Amino acid sequence: MRQMGEMVVARTIDYLAALPEQPSCGTVDDERYVRAMREPAPEQGSALETLLDPLFDEWIPRSFNTAKSGYLAYIPGGGVFPAALADFIAAGTNRFTGVWMAAPALVQLEANVLDWLREWMGFPPGAAGLFTTGGSMAMFNAICCARERHLGPEIRRGTIYVSSQAHHCIEKAAKLAGIHHDRVRTIPCDADFRMRVDALAAVIAADRAAGLTPFMVFSTAGTTNTGAVDPIDAVADLAAHEGLWHHVDGAYGGCFHLVPELRPLLHGLPRADSLTLDPHKGLFLPYGTGALLVRDGSALRALHSSTAGYLPPNQDEFYDPAQFGPDLSRGFPGLRLWLTFKLFGAARYRAALAEKRALALEAAAALREVPGLVLDAPPQLSLLAFHLEGPAFPTLAAQNAATQALHERVTARGDVMLTGCTVNGRVLARICVLSFRTRRRDVEIAVRQIAEEAAILTRGTPSLA
Ligand SMILES: *Cc1c(COP(=O)(O)O)cnc(C)c1O
Repeated sequence: MRQMGEMVVARTIDYLAALPEQPSCGTVDDERYVRAMREPAPEQGSALETLLDPLFDEWIPRSFNTAKSGYLAYIPGGGVFPAALADFIAAGTNRFTGVWMAAPALVQLEANVLDWLREWMGFPPGAAGLFTTGGSMAMFNAICCARERHLGPEIRRGTIYVSSQAHHCIEKAAKLAGIHHDRVRTIPCDADFRMRVDALAAVIAADRAAGLTPFMVFSTAGTTNTGAVDPIDAVADLAAHEGLWHHVDGAYGGCFHLVPELRPLLHGLPRADSLTLDPHKGLFLPYGTGALLVRDGSALRALHSSTAGYLPPNQDEFYDPAQFGPDLSRGFPGLRLWLTFKLFGAARYRAALAEKRALALEAAAALREVPGLVLDAPPQLSLLAFHLEGPAFPTLAAQNAATQALHERVTARGDVMLTGCTVNGRVLARICVLSFRTRRRDVEIAVRQIAEEAAILTRGTPSLA
């Protein structure tokens, strides 16, 4: 066991140490290679080393390099090293943390972390939380909570409201929760990609007039396309007036509420009835760590609480994971958060998050100086979006092709990875600064390479591969 463990730790650390030399995006478009990997179940075992060789040398490199400091694509993830050690301990000791009585001290660690998140988000002591595999499953649990509270068993007339910029996982989660697509209303956004509260009010009124039952509205604290923060406080006012459950999707941006100076950017967030957080994004943890906070904790418990003759009786004093979530047997997600937060301390988290925001502002200021670049979305948090235009690109289609080529050409250089998105028919290139490894140097490289590639594209001599 020791030998195997040392081999794995050594290979992982060697891999991380070599990140600066690795490309920001590996070869992901080799279907032939992947087809050739199909194989029957092994009848006999193999030596660990023979399995680790292709894993580290061949398969891990064939991916978006989400661990590299230059990863500015999508919403960057985390992966701080101590969290991997926590997972090793959790899996190695394999304790059962589904019910409180089976490991009360370990469950208390998880309850502590949920309570820290609650405090950081400004939620009241009566709130309850749940660790999920990600933001999508947090959303699913939130919709189920709201549905139970507001609709009971008569769910077909219930309608929910999202902005045109909301994450698509809400619609997926709604369907899982029995709310079909024809009951999901899409509300238009303003010029800054924020949900229009006047339009929201009008659609709610029309649904009521049609005999439907509006029951839930979503604000986004940082959209995936452009990083827009909806007018959370105004949506909270309307939700209170209309008697709707107000969920805030903070999967990308909620973490910035840790930083007191940045709280005004998320004004109204603590008023939410429920909140999605994605510690595997903004709290730098490895993938597989989402979280849900519910202001009235009894709603989450009412959704999930259950008994069985083979389980210990329920109790009320202590947090009991199976009473607040859908899983019984489960991993121990709380340990990766607890160990990491205790090891680093909240102050370092706040400093890192403030730094990511500052770097995005610096990038925006520098990109404003690049000829032909138009900043469609300056950073509301740490994400900015832009496109390329000018005499060389007379039509929207030409600008879209140029903007697409711009972020692809920068990514192909291998130092940073950018991605784009399409909003209202326009292709935007984006930079999202959220990886704990991203520092000023990475942002400077990104800005310089964007400027260089923009100049080449504008001169009209690129090979548009
Ligand atoms: C990532 C993200 C989600 C989805 O969360 P997953 O953890 O990927 O399931 C939802 N909303 C926003 C704003 C996100 O950035």
